[in-house]
Amino acid sequence: MSFIKKNDPELFDVMYKELERQTENLELIASENFVSRSVLEAAGSVLTNKYAEGYPYRFSRKTGELKYRLYGRYYGGCEFIDKVEELAIERAKEIFGAEHVNVQPHSGSQANMAAYFTLVDPGDTVLSLELAHGGHLTHGHPLSFSGMMYNIISYGVDKETEVFNYDEILKLAKKHKPKMILTGASAYPRKIDFQKFREIADTVDAKLFVDMAHIAGLVATGEHQNPVPYADIVTTTTHKTLRGPRGGMILCTEELAKEVDKQVFPGTQGGPLEHIIAAKAAAFHEALQDDFKTYQKQIILNAKALAKALKDNGFRLVADGTDTHLILIDLGTKDSGGPSGKKMEGALDNAGITANKNTVPFDTRPPFVASGIRLGTPAITTRGMKEKEMKQIADLITEVFDNYKDKEKLAQIKQNVNELSAKFPLYPDLLAEG
Ligand SMILES: *Cc1c(COP(=O)(O)O)cnc(C)c1O
Repeated sequence: MSFIKKNDPELFDVMYKELERQTENLELIASENFVSRSVLEAAGSVLTNKYAEGYPYRFSRKTGELKYRLYGRYYGGCEFIDKVEELAIERAKEIFGAEHVNVQPHSGSQANMAAYFTLVDPGDTVLSLELAHGGHLTHGHPLSFSGMMYNIISYGVDKETEVFNYDEILKLAKKHKPKMILTGASAYPRKIDFQKFREIADTVDAKLFVDMAHIAGLVATGEHQNPVPYADIVTTTTHKTLRGPRGGMILCTEELAKEVDKQVFPGTQGGPLEHIIAAKAAAFHEALQDDFKTYQKQIILNAKALAKALKDNGFRLVADGTDTHLILIDLGTKDSGGPSGKKMEGALDNAGITANKNTVPFDTRPPFVASGIRLGTPAITTRGMKEKEMKQIADLITEVFDNYKDKEKLAQIKQNVNELSAKFPLYPDLLAEG
């Protein structure tokens, strides 16, 4: 950051503070991660200068087949950009076994918008996971385009088991006859059976759209069932377990390729962020290496170890634990006397532990207060932490819970948190630039 440091000290100061925050604190937000230096370099490269509306390929008029570099762009000078985007596409296809990939969505939400526009028309009925049960805003929240434009029917988790009851979802599908079923989650700790969702969709002749934003990294290495063989369209973010730059991506069948591309550009976006697409290509290269598999396995081992230690310390976990990267602690209702999700998030923050409040299924508090805390292991696993550290982290979280009103005690806990973090260096050369 030497140029910013020299030319814009005001901006440098806050950017450097953010670097320090990421380094010193424990990052337990389930949707975050730390990218490699290659990914950072690509994201900060001269590719940000290039306009490249269109695609690095065209569909053959005769066969409909996709052919690379046949002037599918609206601007000149795209010969190298084309190659960059082609690399990202081909690598993503290899990772997920998809027939067609669009790497241009600026974010997960934009990928989802293009997916809706491809599969359903305004006013159509869509069956999707309720936000309070782990769904995402773009799965039908009234304030999102999805809730505004479509007739949303929600399914939730079973009250007893807190996991999907596929028979109940089938019943809802039969009753409401949705044109599309949407699954995938932001706060669901157990695995999702995409094959079952396909069967349900087929029974009522609905399209199946899977949003694998959170679990894409686990899917990439076979730690979670791959939705690609079952879904009409799969969307994902690239910055969560997949450990790439902030962005989105769509995977689909050959049959839907043209329509998906049209709905991304010009349907919902203009010029693609080619520097970010280069960073996606860099991340996909990493995802194809053997050590990425080891990394994804460790994410789950760590989540299971953290879940066990939290349970041993007396916490109740939604769905009684995890088999992914994610844990949802149920802090209890108002009557139980403990902190709300909001209070606990604040207390954790004061102790240098970054996590977010989250509703639990059948929550009695509103979403901005919530009764749960969502935790994830992707970022701390990138730093190199293992099962031993998970036990320590569970104890730190427990200490915060027990002292959530005591600012002094929280400041003491923060010192222990910083000591733990310091043992797992992050971007040491960037820090040295300060
Ligand atoms: C994170 C997430 C998204 C949205 O990603 P943005 O890049 O923040 O728009 C969409 N769906 C699910 C399930 C997610 O978890």
